[in-house]
Amino acid sequence: MQRRFVSVGECMVEMAPTGTAGTFAMGFAGDTFNTAWYARRALPDDWRVDYVSCVGTDPVSDRMLAFMEHGGVGTTHVARIPDRTVGLYLIELSDGERSFVYWRGQSAARLLARDPARLDAALDGAGLVYFSGITLAILDARDRAVLLEALDRGRAAGAQVAFDPNLRPRLWRDLDAMRAAVTKAAAHADIVLPSFDDEAAVFGDASPEATARRYAAGGAKLVVVKNGPGEMLTLDAGTVAVHAPERVARVEDTTAAGDSFNAGFLAARLGGASLANAVREGARTAARVIGARGALVG
Ligand code: ADP
Repeated sequence: MQRRFVSVGECMVEMAPTGTAGTFAMGFAGDTFNTAWYARRALPDDWRVDYVSCVGTDPVSDRMLAFMEHGGVGTTHVARIPDRTVGLYLIELSDGERSFVYWRGQSAARLLARDPARLDAALDGAGLVYFSGITLAILDARDRAVLLEALDRGRAAGAQVAFDPNLRPRLWRDLDAMRAAVTKAAAHADIVLPSFDDEAAVFGDASPEATARRYAAGGAKLVVVKNGPGEMLTLDAGTVAVHAPERVARVEDTTAAGDSFNAGFLAARLGGASLANAVREGARTAARVIGARGALVG
């Protein structure tokens, strides 16, 4: 297998409150980027981790690319779009509750699947390609189809494809459009990594097993259902197993729990770990991340 982990999606500027009123610290995060960042830390050095996206040509885009490279995530396949820039979100803290405001409607990343040849080059020689429901949500319908076709070509060339539905109703025109696009994309993946609470809210699943069976029926060989502090469930070629979560003494910030779980799990699987051990690695990675503040916890 080629030792290349490729993640496709959008990284954004993050403005997070510093504690001093009216002052924000600038960082960079985004679900598929977070997974790439944690995968870089979890995989051995002979693996490459590359991000596939688009940014602008402005100084903030330069800073984002420098941040990725500094984190060991390759940017060869992050294209520059002259008349666009990166998306941004701001975290508001009010009485200890976090809320998010986004500016991403015209972000450069929305064009990441405009050019099929560029996607083919980015996926060439990948051992694993990872994408999410947020990757789908930022693309128009035509570009979503282009991405799925490129993933199929990648699979035919030997890559495994992993998909986190990461359901975000606010990013979609309506729930039916989201359900249809996510279900379709999952059918192009070998490994599907849903979170039960999101799936129950959107698809009405009565149990983690119902979530797993729904994605398996669509064609996924392996489904890993994450479940906050609850038991996780796997469905592997028809075999169901449940897995205990890690105990976390104090939950500080659950941002990127699922993203970091995916990285720990996939890296362990790519290294040949058993399913149970890989789930444990994912849960351990997530437990470390939720025990500290921020999306990217070193
Ligand atoms: P997401 O961040 O995508 O909503 P979940 O909330 O399902 O995902 O969490 C992903 C994984 O992170 C869980 O399956 C579990 O391993 C770990 N996790 C999340 N919250 C907790 C918690 N309170 N205690 C222990 N593990 C947790």
